[in-house]
Amino acid sequence: MKKSDSSRALQTRIVHPQDDLTPGFESFAAPVTRASTVVFPDLASVRSLDWRNDAQWRYGLHATPTSTMLANRLATIEGGEHTLLQPSGLSAISNVYFGLVKAGDDVLIPDNVYSPNREHGDWLARDFGIGVRYYDPMIGAGIADLIQPNTRLIWLEAPGSVTMEVPDVPAITAVARARNVVTAIDNTWSAGLAFRPFDHGVDISVQALTKYQSGGSDVLMGATITVDRELYLKLKLARMRMGIGVSSDDCSLVLRGLPSMKARFDTHDRNALALAQWLKGRTEIAAVLHPAFPDCPGHAFFKRDFTGAGGLFSVVFDGRYNPAQIDAFCEALDLFALGWSWGGAHSLVMPYDVASMRTAANWPHRGTLVRFYVGLEEAADLQADIERALAVLK
Ligand SMILES: *Cc1c(COP(=O)(O)O)cnc(C)c1O
Repeated sequence: MKKSDSSRALQTRIVHPQDDLTPGFESFAAPVTRASTVVFPDLASVRSLDWRNDAQWRYGLHATPTSTMLANRLATIEGGEHTLLQPSGLSAISNVYFGLVKAGDDVLIPDNVYSPNREHGDWLARDFGIGVRYYDPMIGAGIADLIQPNTRLIWLEAPGSVTMEVPDVPAITAVARARNVVTAIDNTWSAGLAFRPFDHGVDISVQALTKYQSGGSDVLMGATITVDRELYLKLKLARMRMGIGVSSDDCSLVLRGLPSMKARFDTHDRNALALAQWLKGRTEIAAVLHPAFPDCPGHAFFKRDFTGAGGLFSVVFDGRYNPAQIDAFCEALDLFALGWSWGGAHSLVMPYDVASMRTAANWPHRGTLVRFYVGLEEAADLQADIERALAVLK
């Protein structure tokens, strides 16, 4: 398969991948190789096994040809070298914690991080003797003042979940590198398409494949991607010790989503931007939180570091509406379903009480925040649906 020439565009290489793990069988679809046990021709083969060696098949939990195919393709998309798959995005986040930190270590987390990551950190702080501190996501190089001798890991998310501030990633990673602290980014929002973490000094990228990579709203999976082999091996060892694996059937679902991911992402991006623009002009809305807009915190970093935005953004309603009215608005929507896990074809909506989610950074808005995920419906129909639902606020 020499079709995958590295001089070609990434999108072409995603459609024409290079891996060929099942020689002699050629098709466009990935073969689904199911296995619990892997059998060996002789005991010499068994005794030569080394968990570090990715070229050896060892046990169905650790890797199969299907899961390795997915892992390799994700590394290509993200611009990384080594991928590990976990059964959810949150499980990938957990793998990073358990691979890198132990009792007595300190972790820095942005105040606008994906909420279950925050809960995970709080749990480790409460029950496992790990220090966890939250920082203002707009801190930039000021992160230097927070790093202690026992700080091992700095989380980043760009933009932050729900509130959409875009951090200065290279400023934070430059400080972290100088102080020998590992950085991990939750890069789910950009799908690895619109933000290239390893070009900005990040050590580990986490993807919730549940979202755009799958695109089908029918499978949960996560990934950690690295360029550094030592770091990869730390995560791999923790993954093995925790008994984490993924099914080849699920991998085949995610593999099916990859070639169309960029086309979907670009459509989500276009539709979301059109809706966000229209919402900006509505008197019910006090602020539209979309990184492509100049008034979004970190917009300059977005323009510098990103090539697109996808389907997720938030609005803050005017403070004259109470939370019950905003709930009524969300429930009045017809095409936007109430649900969390975005990345599929269907639009979603969810209200958030941001003030209750923060401890480190001031939240300047008074009204209720509503997050929209703009799916693949026709944008004009989505706009009409929102316009109709806004009437309940009258
Ligand atoms: C959805 C999501 C996750 C977790 O993904 P799951 O597969 O649902 O566990 C992690 N980070 C972000 C930013 C997400 O949106």
